[in-house]
Amino acid sequence: MADEDKDSVRRNARPRVRPAAEARPPGASPARAPKGPIRSAKATKPKAGTSRALAAAAVLEEQAATRPARRRAVANAAAAAIGGAFRPWSAEEITTAFSRFEAANPHPEGELDYTDPFTLLVAVVLSAQATDVGVNKATRGLFKAAPTPQAMVALGEEGVAQHIRTLGLYRGKAKNVVELSRRLIAEHGGQVPADRAALETLPGVGRKTANVVLNIAFGLPTIAVDTHLFRIANRTGLAPGKTPLEVELGLERTIPERFLLHAHHWLILHGRYVCKALKPDCPRCLIADLCRWPEKTPA
Ligand code: SF4
Repeated sequence: MADEDKDSVRRNARPRVRPAAEARPPGASPARAPKGPIRSAKATKPKAGTSRALAAAAVLEEQAATRPARRRAVANAAAAAIGGAFRPWSAEEITTAFSRFEAANPHPEGELDYTDPFTLLVAVVLSAQATDVGVNKATRGLFKAAPTPQAMVALGEEGVAQHIRTLGLYRGKAKNVVELSRRLIAEHGGQVPADRAALETLPGVGRKTANVVLNIAFGLPTIAVDTHLFRIANRTGLAPGKTPLEVELGLERTIPERFLLHAHHWLILHGRYVCKALKPDCPRCLIADLCRWPEKTPA
């Protein structure tokens, strides 16, 4: 399918439900800030010099507990601590990297199941602290019972909670989903607004969620910085930043316009399946020769 056709499909939010058998394995859980190591990361923050920074990163890793989520958070913090010390990418290197992503996967897609902008919005709200596979299992029944804001309000908090109880924080998420449905009906005629400010006023919707919806449902070139993008931007040196917003703005400045629409998906998939938090798969990485990370994993 041509790019413009594909984009048109995205804008119209064509129904797309991925069969469970095709679902990919779950990605890394969103990192929760570990108390000890993150505090240590700030205390030992390197000012300059990669070797000193790497030593700090090694200390952090040593301090990491064995729990994977904690270790992933430490890996991300270590990348953020030293990302700014790397030589910046040239415009040519950036174009090369994204041309390779494009050649390998011309039409990247997210892994959440949805049928229209409303169900996409709900799925993204439910995905906080959960895997896409877990969310898809929960929404299968939920969207059958309540595919519209009106039906979601009628189902009520308790009804929604019953469908999503396998997800973390499900009580709060159920409350948000019903309330955002009520607000969509009251303020937007039951439609999801294609507007960041309006989206961010809805319960459970932050900048990252708004960016995902604007990108996938409305075809806008937004970059949603999750745990994977945050790590990759810092680890590779592509767009280092201490906060998700800093990384988002850095990526928007850095990535050529023609790649911006799909950049978010290419980078998420790269972080989920190749540049993983705990053991990046550098030998099969498309951009290994461009990446600045000095501790690439051997073949
Ligand atoms: S070379 Fe390794 S660290 Fe760099 S982007 Fe690729 S997988 Fe990640």
